[in-house]
Amino acid sequence: MTDPDDRDGRPADSDALKEPFDPRTVSPDDAFRVLGNRTRLSILRALWNTDEEPLPFAELERETAVETDNFAYHLDQLVGHFVRRSDDGYALRYAGETVMRSIVAGLFSEGASLDWLAVDSGCPYCDGSIEMRYHDDQLTVRCTSCGGVVGNDEYPPGTFMSYGVPPAGLVGRSPSAVLESAHVLYDSKITPMMNGVCPECAATVDHSIRICDSHSVGEDGLCSSCDTRFSVWVDYACELCAYRRSSPPWFSLLTEASVIAFYHEHSDFDRSVPFSKLTRRNAPYVRSISQSVVSREPLRIRIEFPLETAVLRVTIDETLEIRSVERVDPA
Ligand SMILES: [Zn+2]
Ligand SMILES: [Zn+2]
Ligand SMILES: [Zn+2]
Repeated sequence: MTDPDDRDGRPADSDALKEPFDPRTVSPDDAFRVLGNRTRLSILRALWNTDEEPLPFAELERETAVETDNFAYHLDQLVGHFVRRSDDGYALRYAGETVMRSIVAGLFSEGASLDWLAVDSGCPYCDGSIEMRYHDDQLTVRCTSCGGVVGNDEYPPGTFMSYGVPPAGLVGRSPSAVLESAHVLYDSKITPMMNGVCPECAATVDHSIRICDSHSVGEDGLCSSCDTRFSVWVDYACELCAYRRSSPPWFSLLTEASVIAFYHEHSDFDRSVPFSKLTRRNAPYVRSISQSVVSREPLRIRIEFPLETAVLRVTIDETLEIRSVERVDPA
């Protein structure tokens, strides 16, 4: 928090954003209607493919691969939502870039589909064999030996990862490389959410904490009350676009300096941050992490990171802020 009396002559925040701009008031009907035309999509493609920005009118007309008598009219339809016009020519706006990026990533393609494939890797929880499936742009990875992370009807048995990946993420990669890249992508989405920002739309992300009161894990690693592996979950949700992710609270601590420093000091840990939590390579670090609710009012969750020579005990509150960090000898 900034103390208003301690600004060293710097100006205070402008009030300009206090009347919030509401993105929902911009007519998406108009925007999507504009796109339903071959010539206009060709114009977007020409602007996407060019190295010259902005691209003058005559060159844009030449680069647009569709014969039309109404080129100027179609271009005009795109200006505003998708294309920016200046004295020197035309360039894609962010929305135009997003449309093109979705097209090249294969999001509008027929939909690649792969049935279960063996992956040369292991379950992060039991080291069992794993397999993956790609269906409806969703990559699902499951363990064939344990219950994975979630056990409800929504996911196949043994699922420990189920996550939207654009079809381009599969091109030219082996199954284990697809999985590695999905981990990287996952971290790149959940990390901003842990910091209160939506990776999809940039709006504010809120979180809530879900606790299983009668958590008891069976042989498959799952609890019969909550059908998951972990007794405490953090549900992150964008208040604007409803993008959601859930993770146990220790996920967010794995980017904290005290935790990373502890691993670095007491093991041969040499990973970049954020490091992918559920890869086989990192499994030894995350497999033994435990979490427990030590107080309800106020909420305090204790998370322990045990290594052979020491244990790091971190206590967080309902805002996921760290309340205390202590190092203890292993029991
Ligand atoms: Zn397993
Ligand atoms: Zn439970
Ligand atoms: Zn959002």
